[in-house]
Amino acid sequence: MTKPAITPEKSKASVHNYITNLLSDVVARNPGEKEFHQAVKEVVETLAPILEKHPEYIKAKVLDRLIEPDRAITFRVGWQDDQGEFRVNRGFRVQFNNAIGPYKGGLRFHSSVNLSILKFLGFEQIFKNSLTTLPMGGGKGGSDFDPRGKSDGEVMRFCQSFMTELFRHIGPDTDVPAGDMGVGGREIGFLFGQYKRLKAEFTGVLTGKGLSWGGSLVRPEATGYGVVYFCQEQLKTKGAAFKGKTVAVSGFGNVAWGAVKKAGELGGKVVTISGPDGFIYDKNGISGEKTDYMLQLRASGQDIVEPYARKFGAEFHAGMRPWRIKADVALPCATQNELNAGDASELLKNGLMCLTEGANMPCTPEAVTAFQEAGILFSPGKASNAGGVATSGLEMSQNSMRMSWSADEVDKHLRSIMADIHSACVGAAKEAGHPGNYVMGANIAGFKKVADAMMAQGLV
Ligand code: GLU
Repeated sequence: MTKPAITPEKSKASVHNYITNLLSDVVARNPGEKEFHQAVKEVVETLAPILEKHPEYIKAKVLDRLIEPDRAITFRVGWQDDQGEFRVNRGFRVQFNNAIGPYKGGLRFHSSVNLSILKFLGFEQIFKNSLTTLPMGGGKGGSDFDPRGKSDGEVMRFCQSFMTELFRHIGPDTDVPAGDMGVGGREIGFLFGQYKRLKAEFTGVLTGKGLSWGGSLVRPEATGYGVVYFCQEQLKTKGAAFKGKTVAVSGFGNVAWGAVKKAGELGGKVVTISGPDGFIYDKNGISGEKTDYMLQLRASGQDIVEPYARKFGAEFHAGMRPWRIKADVALPCATQNELNAGDASELLKNGLMCLTEGANMPCTPEAVTAFQEAGILFSPGKASNAGGVATSGLEMSQNSMRMSWSADEVDKHLRSIMADIHSACVGAAKEAGHPGNYVMGANIAGFKKVADAMMAQGLV
């Protein structure tokens, strides 16, 4: 008996059914985890072309396995504040997938942190890390600890307590955390110190370390620089460049800082930054000492940008986001879902030509659709903000070799990695029959490498 032929229409329909079922399963099995649902939907919906071409991925349940973290650890973090009060927070580490390398991803300390947010971030990290071309799996962690207004001593005691539990789950060949929102050089130092004490080992277990104890030059700038290098590649496809462009940036933390610096160096004029309190519009451009001042704003631990306006005579718009300002390029570098459909239509009305995500998932799905329908350049964070974790990968290499590279050498690697990620996205989108769709390109290129590794390693 001959098998009925699988026509392209039949294959399309069965992939469509498979995706619909998978997405309703994700919602049913992870109730209330709306950011995680959003991240999975955004990835899975764009994978149809590769699933149609490779039904073996469906048969081996690669996606069903990918959406289930290898493990998600939660733990209590008790610590004492400066008044002697006992405090309790929740710590997390989501080890999502280690098919292509040890789990790798940041730690976020922010009052909004919960399992849904860390699962969304850990899931994104799998594809992002795969795109970097370096051998790193995906993970994420953090705590609902709010670093705002905390003293150095409080932050240290919290970090020590957090690591006293986390240390048993991580290691330089197992899982290598780093920074994210609320976790910078100071926190990595306290975490590293406690790990070293508990294990009696000096290893590259964390990245984002200080320069004299295993850190890499350019790591602090790397995420923001990478965003701008990626954007530069996007602009090139239209024969354009940063020179003379007006740039709107949101956020004022590590990613925004690097992006503002590099966009200015390349001849762009950055006119906005923002914080939870509102946004700054500086029509004279944010560069030089103003960029350095962003570091002071961050170090103040107040989480506000308003003092910038007083110091440099710029406009401060309380409680608002910077997306009403006319710009050629927009770089959202603050946090997830910070730019919605209304913001997208304002930016488009004002002639935006390129939106390069610096944060993880800063644009809502409706905003992404608006940019794509308008036909402007749009890239998802998992491609354009991969420079941070890529440079963490370079820090791991330097640690393993017990060497440190010059700033020029690290920056050269970073630039070529960002250019490679850009070509991988463009190539995969074109091959899938959707040229210019960076979302699809990033998802397919990131997925393929991990999926093939999972297939080769058998059912786990
Ligand atoms: N938190 C950063 C990210 O979202 C960096 C992670 C790392 O360096 O491991 O990719």
